[in-house]
Amino acid sequence: MSKKSEFKEYKKEIMDAAHNERLRLALSRAIKSYRGNVNKALEKYPGTVEMAEEVLEIKKKAIPRMEKLAKQAVMEIEENKGKGYIARTADEALDIIGDITGSGKLIVKGKSMTGEEVGLREHLEEIGNEVYETDLGEFILQKLGSRPMHILSPSIHVPREDVAKLFSKVIGKEIKPEAEIAELVATARGFLREKFFQADIGISGANVVAAETGTLFIIENEGNIRLATGAPPVHIALVGMEKLVPSLIDAYKVSEVTWRYANYTVPSYVSLVSGPSKTGDIEKVTTYGAHGPKEFHVIFLDGGRTELAKYPVLRQALYCLRCGGCLYECPVFAVTAGNFGDKYFTGIGAVWAAIVNKDPEKAASIAYTCLTCGRCRERCPVKIDVPEMIIELRKTLAEGE
Ligand code: SF4
Repeated sequence: MSKKSEFKEYKKEIMDAAHNERLRLALSRAIKSYRGNVNKALEKYPGTVEMAEEVLEIKKKAIPRMEKLAKQAVMEIEENKGKGYIARTADEALDIIGDITGSGKLIVKGKSMTGEEVGLREHLEEIGNEVYETDLGEFILQKLGSRPMHILSPSIHVPREDVAKLFSKVIGKEIKPEAEIAELVATARGFLREKFFQADIGISGANVVAAETGTLFIIENEGNIRLATGAPPVHIALVGMEKLVPSLIDAYKVSEVTWRYANYTVPSYVSLVSGPSKTGDIEKVTTYGAHGPKEFHVIFLDGGRTELAKYPVLRQALYCLRCGGCLYECPVFAVTAGNFGDKYFTGIGAVWAAIVNKDPEKAASIAYTCLTCGRCRERCPVKIDVPEMIIELRKTLAEGE
């Protein structure tokens, strides 16, 4: 597609979204719930704001060292009898994962923005695997053939009536449009339940990784990630290098701040995974492959992140915890959802498109859609200055760098 028609398509998508009444309905419901929940969570745990300041310092120190941290984490994971890899590019990451999975496998997958970034599900399907998204929002999108419109709530743009219609098709039995949300959730549960136990491989991302022990912290509420990373014999995790922090305590702080600003007082589950399952119950001999996975593979993806870290202003994009809070404050997002962005949304999506995806035309479209109003900065736990980044990026793009 030519750059001109790419821009036209972006413009059309964003304008169509802005005139879509159903999208506005779904977004206004979600924004109202989010604001109520996050304010409640921060009132109940006021120390979160101070902890967020500490987290910003942790990220500022970790980002310039992420390559070193990745090497340390790989060493620790191997010490724990897992396998660690560093992938320089998205293609390299896909090759590594494809070599582990091979073809003809049943794969259950948790939500992963990094997986979305590299087209992981599509790649695994192309090489002959059957892949099921297990996060409810992602499952809806997989069945709809649509793409995520929010970092944490990927199907935020799909109202319940549309989910009822879709699930009726998936299970071949009518679900009424006015069905309770609980019935829709139970339908997905019923459909996916057996897949977890039949699967050959489970795939996840991670919210943060402690380099000192190679431990992945995975925050969730649905319980799908516990099942996807616990039931199949093989667990593969794909993680962006910017998720690394030095210590377990750093990783815990990043996790707590992430879930608070993601509108939870506390999530239902936080999984800490450092290696394959093991037991020492017979004669104290450590034996790998007990009830959980026998194999544990972690791929750390650079994919332009070390390049982005070299830009003094734009590197702030790497501090992002992916809590999704800013999206609910963005006036453009409120009418367009993830159509305002690329793989990552709103202003941060512009930086990502320019430096990580090397797509200056896309980056310019997003950068000039941004109003630089700064409402996102007020909500952001690590005070990422999106207006400052956008102004800098517009300059960089105009200079053709
Ligand atoms: S930019 Fe800030 S508010 Fe937005 S997702 Fe990232 S950490 Fe959360």
